[in-house]
Amino acid sequence: MDVVNDIIAWKRDGHELDAARIDAFVQGVVDGHVPSYQASALLMAMVLRGLSDAETVAMARAMVASGRTLDLGAVRRPVLDKHSSGGVGDKVTLVLAPLVASCGAVFGKMSGRGLGHTGGTLDKLESIPGFKVQLPQGEFLRQLERIGVAVVSQSERLVPADRILYALRDVTATVEEDGLIAASIMSKKVASGTSALVLDVKVGKGAFVKDLESARDLARRCRLVGDAFGRPVSCVFTAMDAPLGRAVGNRLEVEEAWDVLTGEGPDDVREVSLTIAGMLLALSDHDVDEAEGRRRAEAALADGRAAAHFERWCYVQGGTWKPGEFHRLAAGEVRAPRAGFVAAVDALAVGQAAQLAGAGRRTVDDAIDTAAGVVLAAVVGDEVAEGDLLARVYARDAGRRERAAAVLEPAFSVSAAAPECEPVVLGRG
Ligand code: URA
Repeated sequence: MDVVNDIIAWKRDGHELDAARIDAFVQGVVDGHVPSYQASALLMAMVLRGLSDAETVAMARAMVASGRTLDLGAVRRPVLDKHSSGGVGDKVTLVLAPLVASCGAVFGKMSGRGLGHTGGTLDKLESIPGFKVQLPQGEFLRQLERIGVAVVSQSERLVPADRILYALRDVTATVEEDGLIAASIMSKKVASGTSALVLDVKVGKGAFVKDLESARDLARRCRLVGDAFGRPVSCVFTAMDAPLGRAVGNRLEVEEAWDVLTGEGPDDVREVSLTIAGMLLALSDHDVDEAEGRRRAEAALADGRAAAHFERWCYVQGGTWKPGEFHRLAAGEVRAPRAGFVAAVDALAVGQAAQLAGAGRRTVDDAIDTAAGVVLAAVVGDEVAEGDLLARVYARDAGRRERAAAVLEPAFSVSAAAPECEPVVLGRG
């Protein structure tokens, strides 16, 4: 009798899996006793039947138990983190990390690399010459104690189950189940020692969460898992129909984050950063509410503390930060086909164009070009004349520039009437 076969049949027939069955499955995946065809079959049954709350928590527990866990108690202050469900042009971590640290809180993140049309924070940081994202655990802890901020690559030894299962989900159309997503996100946060988390659920065409209702369910599931482990989670829903800010591509995004840190930069990046900073500072200190947290973050942006902290962070992590100093690639241009208002900029298409330009990977082994990407010259609501510049695409060779521009061009919709502009922060959950 094959136990895994029974587990698959049990879920296929709509029954709830208990923690013992989920543990057996996850352990079997990691130690190799469960082959990928059985793991894929169970994942598909989970997607079709859905996971209950109890199954979601059990999945998260089994995944945390699949590897090592990090104890950040030596930092002696809550270690905050922010997770974004993935968007185009999302450079918020680059602003937020030094911003909250400059307000006296501790921001520690173990992050991943970008795949597909969304970029990864590690790739962005590595576009700063010398910046080291692979720090030994002891150094990660010491840096958190010393300067209150560190962003590093996730250790292979944390949550090995997620690495295996996520790779399978990615190629078996089984990513989209809220319980699986919540268990995947939260197991990594719990294992890496996060004390409290803000989850930024991106909603819209450029995100895998397409509507607010799904975002609320994902947020609820993540909070549920956070509660089970005693790690508070606050959630915010932000718009991702259009890219966040104007820059998409690794170094280009770091430059834009620096603009925000120095009091300039696009309003939407600033707004999301300040909103989440307020939420994190409230999670860090019971005497601070979100409004007070935001006020403190605004002050740190205005008086230069946040920018100074970014420079210190880069220095301590080995990077040489010289704003504006990087090899600029030749640019292709996309221009307005007619006069009117920019009614939409399709985030997914912009992300794909940036990827084609060389900013993103198709597979985990692809090399990326840190200077490649897209910069929008016009955003939703802007009035343009025929032939006005809409965007520039930066790439190393003409072929890439042309392919990227061909994808970028239809990303813009230009209409006769001015569109209604939605706020970037859609709500809390
Ligand atoms: N991000 C994750 O880390 N896990 C998922 O399952 C989906 C998005």
